[in-house]
Amino acid sequence: MDARAVEVALPLPLQCTFTYRLPEGAPVPARGVRVLVPFGPRRVIGLVTGIATTLPETMKDVVEVLDEVPLAPPPLLDLATWMSEHYLAPPGECHRLVLPPAGVRASRAVVRLSGGAVSPSDDDPVVSALRAGPLPLSTLAKRMGRDPTARIARLRREGRVEVDQDLARPGFRQLRIAVLTPAAADLKPRGRAQAEVLGRLTAAGGRAPVPHVLRDRPSLRGALDRLVEQGAIAIEEERAVRTPEMLEGPVKLRPEPTGDQASVLEPILAALGAGFAPFLLQGVTGSGKTEVYFRAIEQTLEQGRTALLLVPEIALTPLLVRAAVGRLGGIVSVLHSELSVGERHDQWWRLREGDARVAIGARSAVFAPLTEVGLVIVDEEHEAAYKQDESPRYHGRDVAVMRARLEGAVVLLGSATPSLESNHNALAGKYRRLVLPRRIGSQGMARVDVVDRRQALKAGADPILTPPLRDALAERLARKEQSLLLLNRRGYATSLLCRECGMQAMCPNCSVALTLHKGGRVALCHYCAFETSAPRACGSCKGEYLRLTGYGTEKVLEAVRAVLPTARVERLDRDLAARRGAVARVLASFEAGETDILVGTQMIAKGHDFPRVTLVGVVDADVGLGLPDFRAAERTFQLLTQVAGRAGRADLAGEVILQSHRPDHYALQLACAQDYDAFFEREMEFRRTMAYPPAAPLVNLVLRARDPLEGAEAADAVAARLRGQARGNFRVLGPAFAPLARLRQEHRFQILLKGRRKAMRDAVREALVERYGSVRWPGVAVDVDPVTIM
Ligand code: ADP
Ligand code: ZN
Repeated sequence: MDARAVEVALPLPLQCTFTYRLPEGAPVPARGVRVLVPFGPRRVIGLVTGIATTLPETMKDVVEVLDEVPLAPPPLLDLATWMSEHYLAPPGECHRLVLPPAGVRASRAVVRLSGGAVSPSDDDPVVSALRAGPLPLSTLAKRMGRDPTARIARLRREGRVEVDQDLARPGFRQLRIAVLTPAAADLKPRGRAQAEVLGRLTAAGGRAPVPHVLRDRPSLRGALDRLVEQGAIAIEEERAVRTPEMLEGPVKLRPEPTGDQASVLEPILAALGAGFAPFLLQGVTGSGKTEVYFRAIEQTLEQGRTALLLVPEIALTPLLVRAAVGRLGGIVSVLHSELSVGERHDQWWRLREGDARVAIGARSAVFAPLTEVGLVIVDEEHEAAYKQDESPRYHGRDVAVMRARLEGAVVLLGSATPSLESNHNALAGKYRRLVLPRRIGSQGMARVDVVDRRQALKAGADPILTPPLRDALAERLARKEQSLLLLNRRGYATSLLCRECGMQAMCPNCSVALTLHKGGRVALCHYCAFETSAPRACGSCKGEYLRLTGYGTEKVLEAVRAVLPTARVERLDRDLAARRGAVARVLASFEAGETDILVGTQMIAKGHDFPRVTLVGVVDADVGLGLPDFRAAERTFQLLTQVAGRAGRADLAGEVILQSHRPDHYALQLACAQDYDAFFEREMEFRRTMAYPPAAPLVNLVLRARDPLEGAEAADAVAARLRGQARGNFRVLGPAFAPLARLRQEHRFQILLKGRRKAMRDAVREALVERYGSVRWPGVAVDVDPVTIM
């Protein structure tokens, strides 16, 4: 074995690592150290994954070793390696997740003149511009007014200029702090300005950031400088951590655990500090899971360890986040998706250096660089939002469990409606299941009524708000209570039909009907974001009689306003979420009682705690059941159970009204009965019969191609190869058109594998290497443990 070369994972969609020779005499870098290496015409920053064991015939050299010690803690490096193996994901894409933001951002290119090679009479514009000193490529481009790349390439070949990578290491902002010294006491201020500066600083307790001292009077700077010269004020530099606003939270009471909470806490607290231990905490909505999380976090901190709290989406859980900050204080780091690059950088380092010891965030917070992790919590563990649907296609919950295992930590998966996977693991004895069966407080679960829409329609009633739902809304309005209206479909109408030829307006890029938004004026593809003004004539027969069919949240809002004109109604869905801060604003106004009725998609069903909501209406409980997805029933059951849990918290009784065309469907029936165990049994029967997870692991392969024939040929070849490898360890289904057969102008073919995970992974790797080679698998998406198979 030659220790003079290392394996490097590059932050690119490549399936392998690359071997690079180390500089003569350089120490061998540890695993996880960043190195600058040449790759094609570029230089990129990669991560050392180990010492090379077999050496290729030709190798390039490492340009520079960038770190003395790895930036990421060792368990995170192990986690990245595990991910790339488990998910067959590009190793470099997995490793970049554990680095600081911009940790592999390759630098800025800086252009300089080459030593003596440039004659003084050289009047090339680039050379002239560089005479005063090296310039970043971007600055040079600006000065030249056009792209200088080609010219620079030529100058470089001729040896007249050099291009270096300047490793821009984004740093902390330094804050200058003014401090009164003892000498200030003996000093007689000269002039009003000096007196003002001293007065301001004294009022601030003798210590304040310079910008604060100079606030709205920058002209005081001269006086400040003179006081510094005279020794009355000292300037200290302090690291300024850019802290997002979200971090301010009210300090809340710390309630005594109820009997139920105490009995689930006992085994959790006993397990903390004693190695890997996974728990599934099943607690109905309002049963007080949060308090269990907080107590467990507090004990973890007392033991000198750190904790990780994952939520499906930060914007939708402002209460939990604020409660955590209020309770645990400044050692919390909230990894919000709206953080700026600078804030993200600062939070990463706060966690890495131990200034923050609790990380809260969505999916990617599972990679928070905490050390000595003692506890990992995944709230609402059943949520599909934990799955990343682009490469690397990982599941945040599963990665969280693996991280806990690598850290020797306790992992706590919490939900009112656990995923079938987690409950299956609990029944198999892999997770210990704990139950909080009751709501806190005097109120029981809400009453649930189902309205059969078929009968309502026959009677000529409004299909959106049937009479029982309309009356219930009016009643709440009169009593000044609040209502939630769920429809898991955004937009105004679901399609535009031609009455003459029956054609539907379709996306030109995808095999999907366009959805109508903005009162029907705009047509939008929900998959590729194609947008156009709503057509006035049929694209096929030119007929002008077009009809809007189906309806989404926008239309519901309109319907509510029509029957309850005095109600204050707001909408919450993805369309709204596209506007920065809009979700927080709508939630805050609802929380403050400034909104009577909140209409929305599943976004309103998540972990909010609205004490004045006494009615939840589900406009169309069947939305999810029609999807060609093996989790359709599970999703529907979870959504209905969760949204029903939003009614009647605190001291007011709650009521739920579900409108449905299929009131006998078991997902609906069992959600009404809030009977999780019965649903689990019933649904597992289906999964076993069809060999779907968790009865059998699944790997989904999607091959994309612009040319359908080419795509079909590739899919046939890969599937044939896989069949040859199956040897009874797994089954191969397809290739077939994917349910979403065309997306962004590409045709999509699907191959589904069911069986033993390791055998499937090995076979997929082998088949894809055979067809595409070991470096890149263009147009192929491998999804191990998929959440949907669209
Ligand atoms: P879950 O997360 O299980 O849906 P929450 O944690 O939101 O439930 O708790 C529901 C309500 O009960 C919250 O308003 C919370 O403040 C309150 N609560 C929780 N634990 C206690 C307790 N031990 N004593 C009093 N109130 C509690
Ligand atoms: Zn589209």
